[in-house]
Amino acid sequence: MSNFFTSSFIALSVFLIAPSSALEIIFRYDLDTEGFFEQEGATEALETAAEFFENLIVDELEAIDPAGFQPGTQFSWQPTYLEPNQSNQELPAISETDLLVPADTLIIFVGGRRISALAQGGPGGIEFLPPANTGWFNQLINRGEAGATQFINNSFTTGQTDFAPWGGTMFFNSNVTWNFSTTDPIANSGIDFLSVAFHELGHVLGLGILSPTSSWQTLIENGRFQGALASESNQNSAPQLPDLIHWSTFLPDSRTLPVAGRQHGEAQHGMMRILISALGADQFAVPTDLDIAALRDIGWELEVNSVVPLEPGLNFGPSSPQLMIPTTTGINYQVMRSEALDSFTSSGPMIIGNGAVQTWDDPNGLIARAFYTIVSQETVSPVSVSRLSPKNLPETAFSLKENWPSLPAIQCQCGEH
Ligand SMILES: [Zn+2]
Repeated sequence: MSNFFTSSFIALSVFLIAPSSALEIIFRYDLDTEGFFEQEGATEALETAAEFFENLIVDELEAIDPAGFQPGTQFSWQPTYLEPNQSNQELPAISETDLLVPADTLIIFVGGRRISALAQGGPGGIEFLPPANTGWFNQLINRGEAGATQFINNSFTTGQTDFAPWGGTMFFNSNVTWNFSTTDPIANSGIDFLSVAFHELGHVLGLGILSPTSSWQTLIENGRFQGALASESNQNSAPQLPDLIHWSTFLPDSRTLPVAGRQHGEAQHGMMRILISALGADQFAVPTDLDIAALRDIGWELEVNSVVPLEPGLNFGPSSPQLMIPTTTGINYQVMRSEALDSFTSSGPMIIGNGAVQTWDDPNGLIARAFYTIVSQETVSPVSVSRLSPKNLPETAFSLKENWPSLPAIQCQCGEH
């Protein structure tokens, strides 16, 4: 009987075609004074984690170009980072004064150090240098993203709905035995570097970043992350954040994305869970539906279909063809069916994405040859978020230097070991 259906095919079409300017993440090893990334497989594992976000994110970020911002004037700035030790001192990357950050690009300084946490990472800070110019300063802090923080009338806007860093820093504990494999999650009994790299990249992108200029902080209230999509993904409950930075260990399982050997829709805690080292004991811990929902909530524009191909599987049950549709929170799916390829009609109800692989049984049964198309439609674009006032912020949240503010570097300390 199933031979009758072998000519069935599944096509895909997408209503909303996002501008496909993939993000580029450039890693810099200048701060890796202990040679952490000279270990075999370390840079490859880091690039593997970055590639996921490069394929996913389609924001168009302006370049940070000190020489090119205004012809004839050389503008200036310094990236800053937190020294990865007890002092936690903010240091200017002096050798990187006037760092050029190309459009659609993040630059991330990485290294290994003897730190107390498993790893730490976050968006870098900004030391603004004369000559003063409001437009130039805004390019540094928001890269042309309207929802990200703006500097107007000598103060920062609040209630951000977007986040646009120049990049940041990520440091990994050099006293830990790491597994740098990207294919074998139980190799050499080490802690999976790939899993921790996904997590730290999440911080650089703004997940867990408590700052008056972050869009994450806009959405923190009552110890929970109030993003609309993250709540929907988390069984319609705003996810708890025991430290206001990471997902609680008590959240229900989320659903994995198909990376690093994981199948779409497997049960796993979100990659931003507080005890990252306890995630996925014999599997890589990968980004989940919840993490992706939160990235959207804090303002990133994502092309999810580039990491979750809209390619449904097709089964033949005893009485009907069954489609298996990989879904994502925030996206609705409609099966279109045709028996002659001339006109497709909607079949069955709209399928509400939830991170799982959902099934649809063709009610027409095995009576005729059929063709199927899946149409996906973003349910929230742009993402609607509730705007909350930042809580417990000091009146002056920024240190001032020559009457111009600096933006602080932030590094979340992650994991026990
Ligand atoms: Zn963390």
